[in-house]
Amino acid sequence: MAASYEVTATRKRPQDFDRLVGQDFVVSTLENAIKAGRIAHAYLFSGPRGVGKTSSARLLAKALNCEHGPTPHPCGKCDSCLAIAQGKAVDVIEIDGASNTSVNDIRAIKEEVMYPPQSSRYKIYIIDEVHMLSTSAFNALLKTIEEPPEYIIFIFATTELQKVPATIRSRCQQFRFNLISQNLIIDCLRSAAEDLSIKADEDALFWIARESTGSMRDAYTLFDQVASFSGDHITLQKIREKLSIAGFGAVSDIVRKAITGQGGEAINALSDLFSSGVSAEQIIKDSADFFRTLMLYKSGIRRPDILGAVRSDIPEDIVGILTEEQIEAALKAFLNLYRDVRYSLSPRFEIELMILRLSVLPSMVAPAELVKKLEDMKKGIAEGNVVIKAPRQSVVVTDIKESSPQAPSEKKEEIEEQPEEEPEEEVVVSEGSFSLKLSDLGALAEALRKMGKPSAARYITSVERIDENDGIFTFVTSKPLAYNSLKNEEKSLAKAIASAFGENPMIKLKLEEKNNGDSEFSPRMKELKAFFGGTLIKKETEDKEKEETNVPKHESIRTNEDNGLDPEPDEDN
Ligand SMILES: [Zn+2]
Repeated sequence: MAASYEVTATRKRPQDFDRLVGQDFVVSTLENAIKAGRIAHAYLFSGPRGVGKTSSARLLAKALNCEHGPTPHPCGKCDSCLAIAQGKAVDVIEIDGASNTSVNDIRAIKEEVMYPPQSSRYKIYIIDEVHMLSTSAFNALLKTIEEPPEYIIFIFATTELQKVPATIRSRCQQFRFNLISQNLIIDCLRSAAEDLSIKADEDALFWIARESTGSMRDAYTLFDQVASFSGDHITLQKIREKLSIAGFGAVSDIVRKAITGQGGEAINALSDLFSSGVSAEQIIKDSADFFRTLMLYKSGIRRPDILGAVRSDIPEDIVGILTEEQIEAALKAFLNLYRDVRYSLSPRFEIELMILRLSVLPSMVAPAELVKKLEDMKKGIAEGNVVIKAPRQSVVVTDIKESSPQAPSEKKEEIEEQPEEEPEEEVVVSEGSFSLKLSDLGALAEALRKMGKPSAARYITSVERIDENDGIFTFVTSKPLAYNSLKNEEKSLAKAIASAFGENPMIKLKLEEKNNGDSEFSPRMKELKAFFGGTLIKKETEDKEKEETNVPKHESIRTNEDNGLDPEPDEDN
């Protein structure tokens, strides 16, 4: 390694068009134009960040000003080439559009362009992030690029082409730069590692390349960061530990446990991730990545650069258990969570809940399957094999609330129950041809979401039991917040049932308060409680208090009176 460490992005900056990676079209067009002596007075390089725009601008300056040029292959040895490589060329002026946006800066340029270059063929202005210039600055610039002196050349670079006024664009020769392919980035990283005599595992380079999403500069920056803590061997394991990422393997382990009935084990594994410093956001992001990869894999895609994973990473067992629709539902759920989690009081709790919810994923019925069932039914009707009952009128009943005979003051000790609790009550036997089960809640949530009721969609999954009696379906939850929100959306709920199942049953909502005391908790809840530990229990209490205050007070009092209890002794603790 060199005595003084130079960042890789600088060290690997191409000094020659042949070394510019991933922009073959731009390179060949520029080379041909220079060879043919077709030199424009204004160039506009656009494209994502870190893909070689500024490097290309400097290369073009070099090519135009080389003492042996203009030539597509600047010598790299003459005074001009050396000065440009060192950023010291007096006739190549680099301006950052982001910090020189005012019309005065442009006026200065307008005056300067009157003076010919001091020692080179051309006086070249490289203006980076040119879209940042103000409108008046653009107007001032426009006059200059309309009739520039023979020796002046402008090279503009921008990440946001659409913000550059059309009047400017139309006067420039335009070049669009592309994102750099993952394979190409891996090749460059491999060579960078070789230069430093560092051994680098393929999967580690693959991860860096994937994270840098097509930007060579980002890839080199991340590479430097990783190299700084990796010693003489870069491995994925070290990256995971130091950068606190969950990674494919860890997520796949958690998901496997969650969907094979080992919810507790999944929570343990998740807890380990948290302990190692991985944030909830990161876990959610990695989980979304995971399900995206599975989805693409299911649809037959095998290219690692698109999948974001190599073949050996793909957990065939999980792919075998989950259907395409179930994977899609999980991906959608994680994407929604990623969007919502910043509003959450406890992101960690959200991801907990999500992992536990994954356990019902294998039994989720896809909308497509429902449609097929409906089609079959339709066929049955047409053939006269099915008799249709007259549809029940949709009746909305509110304000059903029951309370177990517990002193309200004891409620403080209570931990919120999870909807995944009480699996023994999951199957609801119905007397008619239509029944609603907890496993239907997914489809119901989906229907609500489609109706533009995202919060109802989220709360419907908090329903813990669906009772059916005389064709009336009662949705039971112990969460006041869920109960109140759903109560406000009862009409939407009825509509959602109609749209998801083609039925119009009478529905009710019921808030059922849970018993207190640890003995009442299922093993899973005890596990949850143990997992959350001190500070998080406090958060839960806050959650709970918040929910309790959301319950209209008169309701609680009335309920207590109904039960023959003393009225609630106010909200004080
Ligand atoms: Zn030269």
